[in-house]
Amino acid sequence: MVFRVMNTMSGTEEEFRPIHENRVNMFVCGPTVYDHAHIGHARTYLAYDVIARYLRYKGFSLFYLMNITDVDDKIIERAKQRKINPLELSKNFNKEFLDDMFSLNMLSTNLFARASEHIPEMIDQIQRLLEKGYAYRVNGDIYFTISEFPDYGRLSGQKPEELKKHRIEPDPRKKDPSDFSLWKSRNKDELGWNSPWGWGRPGWHIEDTAITETYFGPQYDIHGGSLELVFPHHEAEIAQAEAVTGKKPLVKYWIHTGMVNVKGQKMSKSLGNFVTIKEILQKYNSNVLRIFFASSHYRSPIDYNEKNLENARENFRTISNAYNIAKNALDIKRSKGQNKDSNYLDDIQSHKNKFMEAMDDDFNTPVALSVMISFSKKLEAYVKEDPDVRIISQSIQMLDDFCTIFGVNVRRVAVAEPKALEDFVELIIELRDEARKRNDWKAADRIREKLSSMRISIEDSSEGTKWQRVE
Ligand SMILES: [Zn+2]
Repeated sequence: MVFRVMNTMSGTEEEFRPIHENRVNMFVCGPTVYDHAHIGHARTYLAYDVIARYLRYKGFSLFYLMNITDVDDKIIERAKQRKINPLELSKNFNKEFLDDMFSLNMLSTNLFARASEHIPEMIDQIQRLLEKGYAYRVNGDIYFTISEFPDYGRLSGQKPEELKKHRIEPDPRKKDPSDFSLWKSRNKDELGWNSPWGWGRPGWHIEDTAITETYFGPQYDIHGGSLELVFPHHEAEIAQAEAVTGKKPLVKYWIHTGMVNVKGQKMSKSLGNFVTIKEILQKYNSNVLRIFFASSHYRSPIDYNEKNLENARENFRTISNAYNIAKNALDIKRSKGQNKDSNYLDDIQSHKNKFMEAMDDDFNTPVALSVMISFSKKLEAYVKEDPDVRIISQSIQMLDDFCTIFGVNVRRVAVAEPKALEDFVELIIELRDEARKRNDWKAADRIREKLSSMRISIEDSSEGTKWQRVE
């Protein structure tokens, strides 16, 4: 089966063949760092993380570049409200973003490139656009002339007359209402840099093309971002880059991710359903979240609701239990068991094939996930019947590969709990036992609830109270 990806540019699934045989350059639009990262960011960046992991698993040498928009109107606005320096504000939220990504086990990016650190490259690109007649100057402002670039609108599938309906940045001095900003002149007391056109700062779109040209040159393999960025942002990127370098296409495959709804509604601050990554991580760990996102195709909208997340938790448990039961069996068992069930051996291979086929079909993670779950169930059943150690090893290896691609960690390590936490939980349980002896059920229940919110479940039996961590 050929490896195919959906290309927004053609609207079809195309065979994936990088520009340079085995090397893949991927760029993904990073966040504008003016606020806490939310569930929409988690969705987008986890999708590309899985894509990156899978490309590497398939043997491609991938360079994954992400920009960080730390110069932008929203940042400046927010900094003004808080009376702090805009670059200070963006630096803090940038750090927080990286911490969030780390908490989600999103480790596949090779380089985060900050816009503020690439201003000379942006000025240089604008200068060349001016020289080539693709841009014009109105006092200290520079605009891109879309009438000089007939391909404008191709990615979003819009005709020139439809484009006219969008008045992106109203400015009566523009030749065409759709012309977009490359450089904005600013007062000296505002955030800015020196340029041949005076004090000012770059427009949003030029940030990305200056960064990608710096690291990748005029053309590269994959450009990602959420679907809402197709127009005008990605359309503008194509226009700028192809106009300046003369090389087409800028990007071979445009891959876009779908939106996140919260309980059926679009997420927005005004609706009060805005969920930050930090808030979610208090309720669900990164494994559960990653399974939750993998259960929808990256292009489809996904609904963030308790039921879907509980399902994800259940699915994660199924996989994790099978893995750990198999791993324990392997640790205990040194001799070969009798069960060399050839059907089961066939099952291993067929599950592997199905998993790869699903991922090769435009990263179809929901199908790949269902293969993982069905395999986990088979593995658990197999391990219970006098299994052969080599077959268990083979199964564990395969499940390990699947989990690595999905970025989930199923390994339960015996020493996972720090000793201090263990002692502390033991102490709390002793206090609860004393409360129960005093018939103080209220206190006992309170302790149980508190432990449960810390994802520690307890079980009372005639031999005493046992506790364990739940995922
Ligand atoms: Zn971008």
